[in-house]
Amino acid sequence: MSDFWNDGDPIADTAAPEGPIETRWERRKFNAKLVNPANRRKLTVIVVGTGLAGGSAAATLAEAGYQVKSYCYQDSPRRAHSIAAQGGINAAKNYRNDGDSIYRLFYDTVKGGDFRARESNVYRLATVSVNIIDQCVAQGVPFAREYGGLLDNRSFGGTQVSRTFYARGQTGQQLLLGAYQAMERQIGLGTIEMNSRHEMLELIVVDGKARGIVVRDMVTGEITTEMADAVVLASGGYGNVFFLSTNAKGCNVTASWRAHRKGALFANPGSTQIHPTCIPESGTHQSKLTLMSESLRNDGRVWVPKAAGDQRAPGDIPEDERDYYLERIYPSFGNLVPRDIASRAAKNVCDEGRGVGPGGLGVYLDFADAISRLGKKAVEAKYGNLFEMYQRITGEDPYEVPMRIYPAVHYTMGGLWVDYDLQATVPGLFVVGEANFSDHGANRLGASALMQGLGDGYFVLPTTLGNYLAAGPFEKIAEDHEEVVAARTEVENRIKRLLEIDGDRTVDSFHRELGHIMWEYCGMERTEEGLTKAIGLIRGLRDEFWLRVKVPGTGEQLNQNLEKAGRVADFFELAELMCIDALHRRESCGGHFRAESQTPDGEALRHDDQYSYVAAWEYATGDSGKPTLHKETLEFEYVHPSTRSYK
Ligand SMILES: Cc1cc2nc3c(=O)[nH]c(=O)nc-3n(C[C@H](O)[C@H](O)[C@H](O)COP(=O)(O)OP(=O)(O)OC[C@H]3O[C@@H](n4cnc5c(N)ncnc54)[C@H](O)[C@@H]3O)c2cc1C
Repeated sequence: MSDFWNDGDPIADTAAPEGPIETRWERRKFNAKLVNPANRRKLTVIVVGTGLAGGSAAATLAEAGYQVKSYCYQDSPRRAHSIAAQGGINAAKNYRNDGDSIYRLFYDTVKGGDFRARESNVYRLATVSVNIIDQCVAQGVPFAREYGGLLDNRSFGGTQVSRTFYARGQTGQQLLLGAYQAMERQIGLGTIEMNSRHEMLELIVVDGKARGIVVRDMVTGEITTEMADAVVLASGGYGNVFFLSTNAKGCNVTASWRAHRKGALFANPGSTQIHPTCIPESGTHQSKLTLMSESLRNDGRVWVPKAAGDQRAPGDIPEDERDYYLERIYPSFGNLVPRDIASRAAKNVCDEGRGVGPGGLGVYLDFADAISRLGKKAVEAKYGNLFEMYQRITGEDPYEVPMRIYPAVHYTMGGLWVDYDLQATVPGLFVVGEANFSDHGANRLGASALMQGLGDGYFVLPTTLGNYLAAGPFEKIAEDHEEVVAARTEVENRIKRLLEIDGDRTVDSFHRELGHIMWEYCGMERTEEGLTKAIGLIRGLRDEFWLRVKVPGTGEQLNQNLEKAGRVADFFELAELMCIDALHRRESCGGHFRAESQTPDGEALRHDDQYSYVAAWEYATGDSGKPTLHKETLEFEYVHPSTRSYK
């Protein structure tokens, strides 16, 4: 019990089978109930999201014979944020014969997640990783190949093997084209009804089950209710609560948050990933940050001057006056330490006054060695588009001068709580991809998000959702059912309220201020004092938002301010929960660094005896106005928690 939350009953994942981990998924698949192919076409599934998770899920479910209704807010499903993914996708193929295996990918992921992920889920993820590559190759995804024609691999942080498959620096785009083509085929066959530019604004729950959604046509403003036998959320992550992040500008939490308000628990909301290699912020006008893929750390060396305040140009700083600090502090993994470690190390050297570039908030990522070792052409072949992007944004040529990078918000490990079947606490609601919390613990390893999204969509969900649907088709729900009407009225009232305020501050100005609070107090380093202060600031700003926000235009037209206002309103509620989650976890783990909990040499200090659990939050209803904490205890039978060392 605290001023900020109530303690609730524990929660358990009852869907994962017991027994040897190697066969759990096989047994779950075998024991899952099947739906006869003739019955599948009588069942309708709503899939919100067309990124790698939603696109792969929709295509596979439709191919299996279900009727799918797909929604996204972009003008085309192939513009989902997944298209931005650059560096690659992991799989335990061991093509390099460098000691990789399913078990090693499992081990690296549990350890990389700082022992805050479920073993069963992670093992399954590692198992299906090998199928994903085969599936994508069969679709024609142009993965990079070696001279002899075999698929090439590179390394990502937190591993000592090369298991990352890639398509230059546009892996997400190529994978999404594969999923999109598979979707398009089904759209052509009439098994997927595609609804682009439609935003889900509410979940419809009838008799305790997810039965539909309320959507707004973003072009005409028309609001409709859409019914189905089950609902799948594949709506991505919520990093944009920080305003500035590497995510696409449209990424938001609304679909998940609306489900949370309807009873779905939200797990580990405070677990945010700060990526170490982004182009530093250049000024207050900026609305977006740009990632430089982690793959660059395969060949780029990270350094800062040894002396604080050294203003010389990088080329004028001799070798012996440079500090290749990652190689120095973490000799085993060097520049390829996991993201949380690399980000904090960058922050530390900048805090010491050794940062480079404007404001001293940057470190160098230097390719001089790689260019002299491999030649410019080889470096260009691997990273050409990333170098070009960097040059266009900064005006500096990274073939000639080192890149400048700084950590930025990138990914959210938290998300809706799901069991092994990927089912939320609302029956019939399934959550896949970045929108769920499932596989990455307190820190996601690079190139594992694409793996998870596609693993969920192509391989896991079709089985587990089928198991749920075997009990259907469920009773048809009429449009005038009281729950449907109530959900629709809620959406209409909310839009009306936002439009009626007619205040004097823009939505963006509120969002920017909220993001600033989050970055300052719930970003790379968190303290009890800072988080408590942040909760007060967020509440104050949220109240001001509902009094002063200005949303021009009407609801019956294309109105981007209205769209943004609804999303920012949900970000306010999420932000408060993120701070409460971060406040309650008085340990450092992965991306969550509590300044009060560190080793003498400044490394993260976990407290397994107290915090080896998933924090699953119930929406604050009732008089207390506080969210309720349900703990899911984590068991580690195979990878025993140890101090994570990359030294
Ligand atoms: C710059 C960048 C580079 C990255 N590089 C890599 C990489 O190399 N390797 C890797 O593994 N990971 C990478 N990641 C992470 C990875 O790209 C994402 O985690 C992943 O693509 C998320 O996929 P998703 O399908 O879960 O969601 P998304 O791709 O974000 O798709 C979300 C979908 O949901 C829809 N949606 C959301 N809300 C609503 C709503 N309310 N109504 C209707 N539709 C809605 C959207 O329209 C969209 O179609 C990168 C991330 C970034 C930002």
